[in-house]
Amino acid sequence: MSKIWIFDLDDTLHDASSKIFPDINKSMTDYVSNKLHISHDDAHALRDQYWRVYGATLKGMIDNHGVDPKEFLLKTHNADELSKFVKQSHALKNTLKKLKGKKIIFTNAPLHYAIAITKSLKIQKYFSTIYSIESTNFNPKPSLHAFRKILRRLGKKPYKCAMVEDDLTNLKTACKIGMRTILVSKLNKKPIFVHKRISKITQLI
Ligand SMILES: [Mg+2]
Repeated sequence: MSKIWIFDLDDTLHDASSKIFPDINKSMTDYVSNKLHISHDDAHALRDQYWRVYGATLKGMIDNHGVDPKEFLLKTHNADELSKFVKQSHALKNTLKKLKGKKIIFTNAPLHYAIAITKSLKIQKYFSTIYSIESTNFNPKPSLHAFRKILRRLGKKPYKCAMVEDDLTNLKTACKIGMRTILVSKLNKKPIFVHKRISKITQLI
């Protein structure tokens, strides 16, 4: 049995794809367009390029345009607006309540957003820590650097940890570093680096 449960946030503990991600996506393109005085189409293309090179718009904006990450994250993650899209779930609360062991969140999202979402879901009390994009010096999952940093901060060996995630590339790194990996997905696909697949969080107990 794993001693530490490491949960991703978006699309693992709640549905972010249907309303939240499109909103953040639009805000990021608006931000890039306004900041660099370029059209929305050009901003979109630039974001695509940064996504391929850096794995995130933010990294590209920091390295190439000296953008302040705090400003970028605040302007692109309007927590008050976004948390209105969150749907509470008794089943989720119940699962987290019953699940034994220390539980933490490890997300590529900013801290203010992660706090707002977990509060809206009424699940914040089940987690001892939230590691956000700020915790890894803006190096997002799936970078090994990000995982190593979190493990160091936790002071735990990887084999004591189970990573619960919807994203396969993140689970690949988690497996590589020695964690147990649990995929949350409705798709019937289970690559070799996934130790267990569940279709919803309630199946953890
Ligand atoms: Mg996710």
